[in-house]
Amino acid sequence: LFLAFGSFATIVIIALVIRMSRKRLSPLGELAIAVRKREFVVHYQPIIELSSGLCVGAEALVRWQRPDGTLVRPDLFIPLAEQSGLIRPITDQVIDAIGRELGPLFRKHRSLHVAINFAADDFKTGRVLETVGHRLGNHGFANDQIWLEATERGLMDIDEARKTIAEARTRGYSVAIDDFGTGYSSLQYLQSLPLDALKIDKSFVDAINRQTATSAVIAHIIEMAKSLSLSIIAEGVETREQAEYLLDHGVEFCQGWFYAKPMPAADFIDYVETSLQRHDSGVVMLS
Ligand code: C2E
Ligand code: MG
Ligand code: MG
Ligand code: MG
Repeated sequence: LFLAFGSFATIVIIALVIRMSRKRLSPLGELAIAVRKREFVVHYQPIIELSSGLCVGAEALVRWQRPDGTLVRPDLFIPLAEQSGLIRPITDQVIDAIGRELGPLFRKHRSLHVAINFAADDFKTGRVLETVGHRLGNHGFANDQIWLEATERGLMDIDEARKTIAEARTRGYSVAIDDFGTGYSSLQYLQSLPLDALKIDKSFVDAINRQTATSAVIAHIIEMAKSLSLSIIAEGVETREQAEYLLDHGVEFCQGWFYAKPMPAADFIDYVETSLQRHDSGVVMLS
């Protein structure tokens, strides 16, 4: 009994030491361990066609799931991951999760697409295209089901960005500029990139119907996107009024809590099947 207790106590002490040392690690050290232990999970937020209310796909959004089960928001670790180079293995884990979790659904419904967020580092030298092509191709995704999202910051090196985007489109992927309007991009900058779509940042959607200076900006962004023949996806739609405004102004797609929050893969698969059934039976969600 004494021996058994002794070894039990040893295990407890070791566990405590590991816990303490993990606590004392720098944030970067912790993130590196999370990468090694593959602690990243992906949630999927439905992307909705405004005119029909139909789910046309999802954006993949990473979360860090700590050993105690808590989820850490990407805003809290993506910047550090980008600075440190850890973003690449994280992106790889996201892509692996998408392939594993959504492969069957995407082989069944060829019209669905998945949007993946990329950092500047991912976009450099086309590395991202090899990874996506290889890992998602193995799971039966067609290239035209894959959308790449990059922020203005991620596309800062304009020559590099132009090359990668052009190559992506040659392979059949679509490319969207994310968080549009929050960076420094000018019309000229936008014009010089061979993009497919523009995502309007939530801050502009928030301003809809609020009689502020910002509320006029969204109409200009929409006009600009249209004049460049870009598809438009509005982010962060939380109210029916916002959805109606966007539909009235000719925006095709949106995401937001008014429709659905990001959710684990199993819930997203249910969501899609329900959405498609409802569509087939003629019920439209917003009208
Ligand atoms: P994002 O790409 O602009 O993603 C949209 C963010 O808005 C998501 O936050 C989403 O959960 C949130 N959102 C969507 N609809 C609503 C709404 O109606 N109301 C509110 N309040 N929020 C809404 P999330 O998931 O926390 O992600 C934050 C950012 O982290 C993303 O912004 C993206 O820039 C980055 N990120 C997420 N996943 C990845 C990834 O796999 N790789 C990289 N490089 N960045 C990622
Ligand atoms: Mg995004
Ligand atoms: Mg965004
Ligand atoms: Mg954002």
